[in-house]
Amino acid sequence: MRILRFRLSSNNIREPQGHAMEQWEAELVEKVRTLARETFTARAEHYDREGSFPHENIADLQQLGIPGMALPTSVGGLGIGAEAHIRIIEEIAYGDPSTAVALNMHLLGAELLSNIPMFARGQEVVQDVTKNGALLCGPASVPTGDLDNRTAGYTIQEDGEDLVINGKSGFASGSDAAKYVIVGGRVPRGEDAEPDLALCLPEKGTPGLNIMGNWDGMGLRGTASHDIVCEDLRIPRSQAAVIPMAVLRAVFQAEGGQGGIMQDRARGALGILAIWLGNAQAAFDFTVDYVGERHGYLAGPGLSGAVTPGFRSEEGWAQVDIGYMDHWLGTGRVILYDMVRSLDETFPSQHEFTRKVTRTVYHLRRMGEEIAVESMKVCGAHAYVKKRPMERMVRDLIGGNVMAWKTDQLAMTLGQGALGMPITITGPAGS
Ligand SMILES: Cc1cc2nc3c(=O)[nH]c(=O)nc-3n(C[C@H](O)[C@H](O)[C@H](O)COP(=O)(O)OP(=O)(O)OC[C@H]3O[C@@H](n4cnc5c(N)ncnc54)[C@H](O)[C@@H]3O)c2cc1C
Repeated sequence: MRILRFRLSSNNIREPQGHAMEQWEAELVEKVRTLARETFTARAEHYDREGSFPHENIADLQQLGIPGMALPTSVGGLGIGAEAHIRIIEEIAYGDPSTAVALNMHLLGAELLSNIPMFARGQEVVQDVTKNGALLCGPASVPTGDLDNRTAGYTIQEDGEDLVINGKSGFASGSDAAKYVIVGGRVPRGEDAEPDLALCLPEKGTPGLNIMGNWDGMGLRGTASHDIVCEDLRIPRSQAAVIPMAVLRAVFQAEGGQGGIMQDRARGALGILAIWLGNAQAAFDFTVDYVGERHGYLAGPGLSGAVTPGFRSEEGWAQVDIGYMDHWLGTGRVILYDMVRSLDETFPSQHEFTRKVTRTVYHLRRMGEEIAVESMKVCGAHAYVKKRPMERMVRDLIGGNVMAWKTDQLAMTLGQGALGMPITITGPAGS
């Protein structure tokens, strides 16, 4: 008898109450949701197995203006609100987390550029994003196969009217589809002087700019997070933003001196959490479906002896584990969207804002860890096979877990924050 074949799908538990989306935003979220569930989900297996970039998904999202969604309408963007923004990332991740990671890193870059108004080249690139859906990638981490940040990054020398860039950075998510690469580095000013910081936006195909095509992460395999090597890459100085350290320090101090994630620039970080949530929801929905299909123990009732088992959904242990998953998913959703809605509120201090962001990142990380393990525990061997999506979903959840923040470091930050010690939390690019 199949008594427990019900489904706590995302449709039943997902809608946050009292959300602040406008009609057009809700419609856009719905379109992306349909696209992700009807199309991206079906394509995800291929991208994962091949380790290939989801160009088709990105093309579908470009049709909807998603690459420019967070940019202000004054520069041709959609000017989307934070809640709709994060919901869209979550919906994409439900279908294919790799697509969501590549898009999120692009959005982070676009947000960065729109915050440097005097940077002419930056504004030109922003126009290309809003008009044509051009994508950005940002290699700011230690290269994939390397371990030491002392040998990573770019050095930038002035040579006449040009800047000449050399070096290697890694994890440039979306680099297979990006038109522009965000290249940042220090410009030395002599032994006794502080270096300046330079930001350049070379277009792919510029001589000296090499996308290495070497991404080999075991989770989120479709992100094309390749290393990017610059070999005597020449950029006219007029096309770069060269910022003296003293100016950067002044901006830093004006923002409270703590650095890290700021209230008006938190979407990129929260987008990563939305990816974990969408990915976890997909693993949960799969698990709930699966336990309603999986019947009995060994092959054939004869081998099960006196036991007459039914569906796995009828087993208490599976119900308990699904209950744990439900708890993490439900609370993760509430905590993430409470954080997103509070971006418009006034916090008493940057310290209090940082504590809340850290709590949110911590909780969503714990959610990802728990859902990855629980879904495997509940579903077992017959689900952990190539032809079913759970193995990929779990691997993508782990891919999210190895990214940037460390769970125990976050707990330490929370403790220090509660004790009144100065704290900071960095963005998702890590080191
Ligand atoms: C699928 C995927 C896509 C990615 N995409 C990109 C991308 O597009 N661009 C990119 O640049 N990187 C990207 N990354 C890299 C990623 O964000 C991290 O940098 C990297 O994965 C972390 O490496 P690690 O585990 O050795 O941690 P580490 O780099 O050793 O540590 C990260 C930890 O250091 C902390 N930290 C960072 N700076 C400081 C500081 N100054 N003081 C104190 N703590 C600090 C962080 O909070 C975090 O907890 C991606 C990673 C993955 C897995």
